[in-house]
Amino acid sequence: MPATLLADANQRLEKALRYVTIHEDAVERLTYPKASLTVSIPVRMDNGSLRVFQGYRVRYDDSRGPTKGGIRFHPNVTLDEVQSLAFWMTFKCAALNIPFGGAKGGITLNPKELSKFELERLSRGYIDLIADFIGPDVDIPAPDVYTNPMIMGWMMDQYSTIRRQITPAVVTGKPITMGGSLGRETATAMGAFFVIQTIMPKFGRRPTDTTVAVQGFGNAGAVIAELLYRAGYRVVAVSDSQGGVYSEQGLDIPSIRKLKEATRGIKAVYCEGTVCSGINHEAISNAELLELDVDILVPAALENQITDDNADAIKARYIFEVANGPITSAADVILEAKNIQVFPDILVNAGGVTVSYFEWVQNRSGYYWSLEEVNHRLKEKMTSETELIWAIAHEFSCSMRTAAYIHALNRLGEAIEAKGTRDDYTS
Ligand code: NAD
Repeated sequence: MPATLLADANQRLEKALRYVTIHEDAVERLTYPKASLTVSIPVRMDNGSLRVFQGYRVRYDDSRGPTKGGIRFHPNVTLDEVQSLAFWMTFKCAALNIPFGGAKGGITLNPKELSKFELERLSRGYIDLIADFIGPDVDIPAPDVYTNPMIMGWMMDQYSTIRRQITPAVVTGKPITMGGSLGRETATAMGAFFVIQTIMPKFGRRPTDTTVAVQGFGNAGAVIAELLYRAGYRVVAVSDSQGGVYSEQGLDIPSIRKLKEATRGIKAVYCEGTVCSGINHEAISNAELLELDVDILVPAALENQITDDNADAIKARYIFEVANGPITSAADVILEAKNIQVFPDILVNAGGVTVSYFEWVQNRSGYYWSLEEVNHRLKEKMTSETELIWAIAHEFSCSMRTAAYIHALNRLGEAIEAKGTRDDYTS
């Protein structure tokens, strides 16, 4: 694997470039993040001590509009990770034709070790330090791993305090009462569901004949598991950071969700339970879940789950990447040789940023849409862009990942070239 995540992400760009005619200036621009900010956030802890946390915000490219991307709270957050996530956001927004560039943010910590008050002080402290780097017309954060509407609400409130005006459009994924959009919390999974429902009939697959394993049981994973379950798919395995459960007959996903939710204490920001507790099950590890003999595998946790170490052992026939970057570029090659169809993150999980865009539009117009309208527009977007990418994959006989990058690159290239290239300045 390349030395950095960003270098690995760039390999996808290089592969797609073989099929696209875009100016070398555009390629040069897209190889580097536009701006990266590192901050040290001092937080007064409940016991009176002071801790300093490292935070990042990266704006990768804004050729197509203000940058957009989530904020992650996780012990493994590094600048390299945030840069590659911002790279993916750039291509995701372009692939879906959303008028945003790509960004990402993160703080290195285990958020489950902080109290709610400490998390609030940390979230507000982060905004104090990045306030001049973000804004409704500059860069708009959103939730990602271990951040949620409550945290987005604190961040919007802090930004509004700094600017001395209520600024809902600075952050998306907010609580509904603070300007959030109906359907945002389920949007990532709902978007992935529309992609799966568009793709599976092309392979002659019906839900009732199709088994599914989902890795990760958070905002994205738990909701996609339930949507697939309700549509008649047999969801045989799910997992979270503490491990997984497996049942050949299929799991009762709504009950597992209820159980997990029930462990969210009034004072807690996160659920404390795991999918492994409270139900009769066969326990499996996350590594075992990935290698199950299922039709559809949905990685919905973190990046680098399928690498050249375990790609050979993967038995699923279709992989829908709900997580960002769960498959490395080296693993891609192995899966392709095994004829496993991979549907890429920049398409499959784009429902989140699509409804974030809808939220930003609603905030700026001050007029709010019904849930039906949000889901209708989301379905239209996900289905039409999936069909376009499918057509590109067939035109060039390439993978869906390369096709999604070709699709995005065409739009990015056009935007970058519109500002002028070296051809306009040299004779
Ligand atoms: P989340 O914090 O709600 O949930 C993360 C889940 O992953 C939890 O169930 C956690 O227990 C599990 N997990 C953590 N470490 C794990 C490990 N080592 N093995 C297995 N499971 C593990 O996060 P989320 O919002 O659901 O995000 C999940 C993925 O989806 C991330 O890659 C994120 O970037 C991507 N994504 C999320 C959104 C969104 O709108 N939330 C949008 C696009 C992409």
